[in-house]
Formats: sequence, structure tokens, C-alpha cells
Amino acid sequence: MELYYQIIFFIFGSVFGSFFNVVGIRVPESKLFASNRSQCPKCGKQLHWYELVPIVSYVIQLGRCKGCRTKISPIYPSIELFTAILFSLSYTHFGWSIELIIALLLVSLSSILIVTDLRYMLIPNKILLFFLPFFIVLRILSPLDPWWSSLIGAIIGFVLISLIILVSKGGMGGGDLKLFVLVGFIVGYEQLLLVFLLSTLLGTLFSGVLLLTKKVNRKSAIPFGPYICIATLITYFYGTDIINWYITSFF
Ligand SMILES: [Zn+2]
Repeated sequence: MELYYQIIFFIFGSVFGSFFNVVGIRVPESKLFASNRSQCPKCGKQLHWYELVPIVSYVIQLGRCKGCRTKISPIYPSIELFTAILFSLSYTHFGWSIELIIALLLVSLSSILIVTDLRYMLIPNKILLFFLPFFIVLRILSPLDPWWSSLIGAIIGFVLISLIILVSKGGMGGGDLKLFVLVGFIVGYEQLLLVFLLSTLLGTLFSGVLLLTKKVNRKSAIPFGPYICIATLITYFYGTDIINWYITSFF
């Protein structure tokens, strides 16, 4: 029965992931409900239902449009797979609980923000404001221990990232700041510090690799949002384990 639900969550995740691609691409351009949902942006070919199956269609078509052979961005199937795996993991991790809803929302928010930040270098207020009330209500229903950890987390997120913005002048932006405040509220102050460390580590590591492989140069701006999202998810699922491992190994 457990495996059955894990598969169901995986399939739902891939379908939602496909939707989050559309949301992430269209919300910043304010045309979420435009009608040309299912055509190739290059040749305008109408896509059949079997060309819109998450993950599977991309693999079968070898990553190209059937009409004009234009390469389809690997971001699409990546987000579908990312959401599918994390929806399934959320269920495995939390079972049927309020925390499961928080997990699914956090995965959804992350998927959308990875798309908007990679494509537009933007963490849209609209997206943050849409999710905010759900997280507030759910954290009241399923509080952290102690409950004020959420408030301190949000405050530390605000102070820490404001300082970095002041000092670095452009390393992070207002979107990153708001995202950190929200993440602090969801995961609490201890885990927020871990999110901060992990995201800086991931950011440094990946921009180092991108610089070495000359995919970017020193002047290119690199979106930081995806690192915050991935660090948040690692911390949200495994933060307690990581903190315990660290304490027992080094103290
Ligand atoms: Zn095409």
C-alpha cells in the first residue's frame, strides 16, 4: 500500500511539475491564462496529448519538437522529475499529516521559483504572496517546537540577508530577502542558519564549476534563488539529521 501511494504521489508530482513550468514562465509575463498553452513556441505546431505527458514525452522525442526538431529546454523535464521525486519523498517522509501539506507546498513553491529565477532572474512577489497565507495557517495548525522558532527564524532571515545586501551591493536581491524571511518562518531559526550555510556552499560550488567550464564569466549575474530553494528542501527533509550528525561528529 505504501508503494502504491508513493507511485501516486510521483505521478501527481510530475503533472504538477508540468503545470509549475507553465506558471513559472507565464506569471512574470502576467499571462498565466493565455490560450496557446500547448504549442511549440518556435514553429507553432499544436501539441497532441501524447506530446504533453510529463517526463515521458521528452524522453520519447529525444528532447526535440516533432514539427521543427528544435531542442526543447531540459528545464521542463527536470522540473517535472524534481517535483515528482519530491512529492513522493514528502509522502514517504511525513505520511498523512498537516506537515505533508506544508512539504507539498514547499516543493511547489521551490519548483516555480527555480523556473522564474533561472529564466527571468526574478522571485515574483505574486508567487510569494500566493503561498504566504497557506504557510501561516499551516504553521499555526502544525507549529514548530518551540512555536516562536518560526518568528525568530523570519526575523533572523530578514536581518541576515539585509546585512548581506548592504555589504555585498548586488550579491543578493530583494527577492532573495523575502524568500529567506518566508523560509525562516517555515523551518525555524536553527534550520534557517543551515539553509543559509548550504545555499552559500551550493552557490559557491556551482558558480565555481560554471566559471571553470567557462559557461559564465566573472561579470555574469547568477541567480541565487535555486540554491536557496534546494538548500531549503535539503534542510526541511534532512536538517535535523544533518545537525545531529554534525554535533555528534565534532563535539
Ligand atoms: Zn516546433
